[in-house]
Amino acid sequence: MLSSYIPLKKITIILTIGLICLFTNTYAQKYDPFDGKAQDFHARLTRYFKSPEDEKASLKLLSDSTAAFHKDSVWNLNNLRVHLDRYESLLVSQQRHLQYYRLVCYKNNKDTLAQHTGQKIDESIDVLQNTVNGILQKVPFTTINSTQLNKYNLVKYQYLLAQAKQNAVHNLSDHDERLINKLLDDHLIDRYDALMDNIKADSITYNGKKYNPVNDKQIFLKSPDSLLRKMGMTAYYQAYANHAEVLAATLIDITKQRTALFKAYGFKSAPERTYAHKLQLSEASVKQMLTEMTTHADVLKAYQQLQTDQVKRITGISHVHSWDTTLPMGFTWQPLPFSKVQPLVLDALAPLGTEYVQHFAYLLNPANGELDIAQGPNRVTEFTSVGFPRVPESLYMKSYGGALSDVSRLIHEGGHAIHEQFMSENLSVPSYVKGPTFLYESYAMLNELLLLDALEKKDTTVKGKAFYTKQFLDKLSLEVFTSAEEGSFEQGLYDGVVAGNINTQADVDSLYAGIMNKYDSYFPNEPQRHSEWINKRLVFDDPLYNVNYLYAMLVTCKLYELQHNDSKAFATDYTALLKNGFDAPANVLLKKFMGFDLNNTALLSGALQLMRDKTAQLKALYAQY
Ligand SMILES: [Zn+2]
Repeated sequence: MLSSYIPLKKITIILTIGLICLFTNTYAQKYDPFDGKAQDFHARLTRYFKSPEDEKASLKLLSDSTAAFHKDSVWNLNNLRVHLDRYESLLVSQQRHLQYYRLVCYKNNKDTLAQHTGQKIDESIDVLQNTVNGILQKVPFTTINSTQLNKYNLVKYQYLLAQAKQNAVHNLSDHDERLINKLLDDHLIDRYDALMDNIKADSITYNGKKYNPVNDKQIFLKSPDSLLRKMGMTAYYQAYANHAEVLAATLIDITKQRTALFKAYGFKSAPERTYAHKLQLSEASVKQMLTEMTTHADVLKAYQQLQTDQVKRITGISHVHSWDTTLPMGFTWQPLPFSKVQPLVLDALAPLGTEYVQHFAYLLNPANGELDIAQGPNRVTEFTSVGFPRVPESLYMKSYGGALSDVSRLIHEGGHAIHEQFMSENLSVPSYVKGPTFLYESYAMLNELLLLDALEKKDTTVKGKAFYTKQFLDKLSLEVFTSAEEGSFEQGLYDGVVAGNINTQADVDSLYAGIMNKYDSYFPNEPQRHSEWINKRLVFDDPLYNVNYLYAMLVTCKLYELQHNDSKAFATDYTALLKNGFDAPANVLLKKFMGFDLNNTALLSGALQLMRDKTAQLKALYAQY
């Protein structure tokens, strides 16, 4: 399967974007955003290899040199620099083939040969990385000191060596590792996916028309009829709640399994390991952030109240529910052809500085062959940058249809592409392209906020301005507050299961309700949502990941604030941060380049103030309706 070598982060990102894109492009099929020039919007594969034959020959040579590298087992301080240089160079060559195959496979999901070859290359990269890490996790490399780093010309590899040493603490014997892997495979996640795929519900009839509660959620949410919305959403929640008992058991089993797994690796708890791994933060620090967040629920509630009042005013509904708040408020987005997206996106990104905009302009020029966004018959549903240092950069989107969600994806995924391009031009150690996901997501989300700002400024109508301001607020409340709710739920789940307090569906529901009642002013009046946690796929598929979105958006908001305070200095510092890659922990990099760190209180205050300001702005606009 191709998906096995699409990094998980990309999949999770698609899920998040999916949440904000209720207004997706149903008209995309009929509308031609490329003005009859769709053929220009496919990436040029000759940027990777002159021809498929050339690629095959190159891959054969690479396989030989990789085998030779593995055979050369004598590693010592004298030859470490040479070995690491060779390793990085092999990694780049392997990645050139891998990124090429990713593109080929995205463009044609029927190309099983390319999928197979891509998977083999991916495995070969894993073996290469694991081998080198295994070597670096042993003496004398774990005891290397600064004098030796200088003496053996290893300063640039300092962080690589430090990371290997850090991971070595949690190594198990091969025998134990094999046993654990055998016991703890993905069968529980598979069970969740199978259950969810098979959830059915009896159809409901309204005004003589039949609806399927599981498939017609978007129809319910978009319906101007409040009774249909309520009836439909109630049936939707009920369809999943009917299976809550077995899904709660699955969730509790996943929680127990992961707790045991990470304890075997020497961690105190699953959260401790996951936060350290993904956020580079301690469990105590994340818990403190989640507790602090609950004291600011009033900021979310104020926005919800504003929406409630506006929906009441426009529709006359007396009891407004959560499913009423996505109703259109008198503004309809018009599909945007690509020729108009280019200037819009570049204008929106101007605050990030000339160099950033120049790079983005190059990406968006189809003549340069980096874009692969026009639709085709067998394209994979994926939206992602495709790149690695010293390898050509590409941007793949299943299609571009001119919807706002398409433009948001373009500026978000394009942001990842530009970041990769900056690193490609500047990194002396290609491995430093990899860092904590939340950090590079925060950069891409900054682009989305800047896009909404630019659209809001450009629009001359009150309803248009209100529409973009609401989009901005929805994005903020999703990433900050929904992520905080989910983060608290997961932390509570792990704590509760370990303590023996969470054993049944009622326990899980009660944990969820306790958190939601604090944050969400709609929840107490919507008993239908008691088992809403079922639809939070990441809670099952990638446990304890949700809180990453909270940190990502908090960093985004801080960057946004700095940009607004001193745009010139910001552009210079920010570009330097992007070019630097990840040769230190996130906290250190943010402090060094941007002057702030992941200190909870300071980071939070900026995001909350931005949300208050935007809520006030929206209130003033609604007043003019
Ligand atoms: Zn992203």
